[in-house]
Amino acid sequence: MIELKNLTKVYGKGNQAATALSGLNLSIERGEIFGVIGHSGAGKSTLIRCINLLERPSEGEVWVDGVELTGLNQKQLQEQRRKIGMIFQHFNLLSSATVYDNIAFPLRLIGTSAADVDLKVKDLLTLVGLEQHGSKYPAQLSGGQKQRVGVARALASDPDVLLCDEATSALDPQTTDSILRLLLDINKQFRLTIVLITHEMHVIQSICDRVAVIHGGGIVEQGDVAKVFLKP
Ligand code: ADP
Ligand code: ADP
Repeated sequence: MIELKNLTKVYGKGNQAATALSGLNLSIERGEIFGVIGHSGAGKSTLIRCINLLERPSEGEVWVDGVELTGLNQKQLQEQRRKIGMIFQHFNLLSSATVYDNIAFPLRLIGTSAADVDLKVKDLLTLVGLEQHGSKYPAQLSGGQKQRVGVARALASDPDVLLCDEATSALDPQTTDSILRLLLDINKQFRLTIVLITHEMHVIQSICDRVAVIHGGGIVEQGDVAKVFLKP
């Protein structure tokens, strides 16, 4: 589903140049929950942001569902990005918009009719357990509820892939578990491929099928979670 080939990212130029990823290769199967773990500065955030080209790689290829993204023009890229939802550590919701309108936002952007927006948003509110909260503003919600809005918004365009950028790092342990359970449900229900980055082993162990350990911009180990973390 996702293939990263020889992925290299260098920020800045000359003396200021910082290599965040160097020649990284990674292959993620359709329907799996794949975790990337590593210390701060290892390159996790750069890696996940390269999968939807929020960050443009300096070298290498990004394949998602059989399409190589770095060679696309802006219009083609926008089309492909609908297949890739993303959730964030700090939720990135529009504070001046209601829960309903936050979720409707990506649908309205692509010109979805009001009636279809309404059906879809109501479905998504139910899916994430917020059917009573559509008219609230983000500031009126708990952290876990905000992330549920983030999940609903990310799923609005029926993506095949969900990218999770430290999506539970701002949440307490109990709320983290409830969001992880939601992600697992969604993965099973829609056969959605999920890629998550985290610095927390617990997150990887609770829902990931496979894991890659990233260090210094490269993958130092990868495999089934049980094999990588439960060594004899
Ligand atoms: P992680 O998510 O694992 O903490 P990052 O991908 O954020 O790692 O960062 C990897 C490396 O790239 C770090 O050395 C970081 O300082 C550097 N870096 C990240 N973003 C930028 C940027 N916008 N400009 C310059 N250097 C950056
Ligand atoms: P239209 O899309 O024709 O303007 P809608 O009924 O879809 O009409 O929504 C109008 C506005 O009402 C939305 O932008 C939203 O702010 C609010 N709204 C509609 N349904 C809900 C709901 N279930 N929960 C909260 N707000 C809603």
